[in-house]
Amino acid sequence: MDQIARTLSLPETPREFGFFIDGEWRHGRELAEQRSPAHGVPVTRVARCTTDDLNDAVAAARRAFEDRSWAGISGGERAGVLLRAAEILRRRRDEVAYWEVLENGKPIAQARAEIEGCIACFETAAGAARLLHGDSFNSLGDGLFGMVLREPIGVVGLITPWNFPFLILCERVPFILASGCTMVVKPSEVTSATTLILAEILTEVGLPKGVYNVVTGPGRSVGQAMAEHADIDMLSFTGSTGMGRSCVHAAADSNFKKLGLELGGKNPIIVFADSDLEDAADAAAFGISFNTGQCCVSSSRLIVEASVADEFERLLVEKMARIRIGDPLDEATQVGAITTEAQNRTILDYIAKGRDEGARLLTGGEVLEIGAGRFIAPTLFSGVRRDMAIARDEIFGPVLSSFRFETVDEAIAIANDTVYGLAASLWTKDLDKALVVTRRVSAGRFWVNTIMAGGPEMPLGGFKQSGWGREAGVYGVEEYTQIKSVHVEIGKRKHWIG
Ligand code: NDP
Repeated sequence: MDQIARTLSLPETPREFGFFIDGEWRHGRELAEQRSPAHGVPVTRVARCTTDDLNDAVAAARRAFEDRSWAGISGGERAGVLLRAAEILRRRRDEVAYWEVLENGKPIAQARAEIEGCIACFETAAGAARLLHGDSFNSLGDGLFGMVLREPIGVVGLITPWNFPFLILCERVPFILASGCTMVVKPSEVTSATTLILAEILTEVGLPKGVYNVVTGPGRSVGQAMAEHADIDMLSFTGSTGMGRSCVHAAADSNFKKLGLELGGKNPIIVFADSDLEDAADAAAFGISFNTGQCCVSSSRLIVEASVADEFERLLVEKMARIRIGDPLDEATQVGAITTEAQNRTILDYIAKGRDEGARLLTGGEVLEIGAGRFIAPTLFSGVRRDMAIARDEIFGPVLSSFRFETVDEAIAIANDTVYGLAASLWTKDLDKALVVTRRVSAGRFWVNTIMAGGPEMPLGGFKQSGWGREAGVYGVEEYTQIKSVHVEIGKRKHWIG
């Protein structure tokens, strides 16, 4: 793999992966091939698992949970495994980044930085594993003592999407492991490679068999079966709000499994006239173009104070035109390819709708012919009305819609005019204004004079239809636990029967 890291050429033949159950690799009877979104050549083949494979994986995770080989050891021992995984990941960083690029189309430099973030997730979760604790009530009188125990919830199903296959995985897996749970993971069929590589890493560090299992295959069959599975205690799902709703129905119709949902967003970036406009324009260009806008926290609605709106849009157009788009295996590339053909069509359809509905295209809007890949220029629409499709729907592409406001209240009203509440970015030098807007805009993650900053210490998740629950940090570990109240009587019982 060192060789690949040096030369960054495409693989001569697609790499074939098995799937992973109970510490063993299995081979699929049917394989699905993934082509590099940027180069059009086949890069990986993964198994199309069946529901029998899923049942085997859930049974293995159940056995591993019940035998206490993971839940029964100390938080310190679990932390040791997580820290060793971080070490190996550090060693294999370039390899994991390489496969992430080949399946997803994101730039190699970005992919490496994401793997650094993943290492931090394992390290953070290791600390949280040691610190996880319950509570006690010494206030129930001399005759009674109360303890609140946190117990791992059991077998977790984890369904991850294709936009950040490894980062989203690592914002969850180490925290699930820290809690003492076992799991079955179903990555998106188009980006399964790095989830399977993690199985190699966790095996090497001595994770007991059955604790981490991976089944691959299409969401509509394997994913749906996971959501319906009666022996999965909790499902963590990241993807579209529509699929999140379908998971809620499946959970209700099966065993009322607990759900963690991280869903869509239509995130505002609010720019006040008193902000550093150069900084804010750079952030807005980054916020919509990063990961080709295929990012749940993309800032896709620009809400800019009318007095500086023309100047700000000019600055932004100039910056967007200078973004380096191209071969994701090139170190200098900032924006790569669109991951799937379906997503490419969706984005181009929204660009056409924006034009048809009368929004003004200031830059982008076109397909870029770069080799055999799928590339779309970062796009800015001005004069967007709040009822237009490009104002309301999550596009999940590099398409930014611009709105103007006159007052703080109006800025807040536009920001909140969405069914989503995942993230928001706010630009002002006025502390009062910053705090007022931060309190009144509904968003699970807020950035003031910055964008997409942070680390795995901070919880992730959404308000409104952007989801349920929180991932990462101590909150993320607690999410995978359940609480048991234990009452202990002290001394002789006062008898009921006289
Ligand atoms: P989906 O919500 O369909 O896919 C997300 C994940 O769910 C994938 O792993 C997918 O597997 C799986 N899945 C698909 N169908 C089911 C099902 N019936 N039950 C359980 N799991 C299922 O998103 P799409 O890939 O179709 O993208 C459509 C839109 O969703 C995007 O345009 C974007 O708006 C949004 N999205 C949001 C994401 C986020 O991070 N919030 C991530 C991805 C998409 P598989 O891919 O193998 O089919």
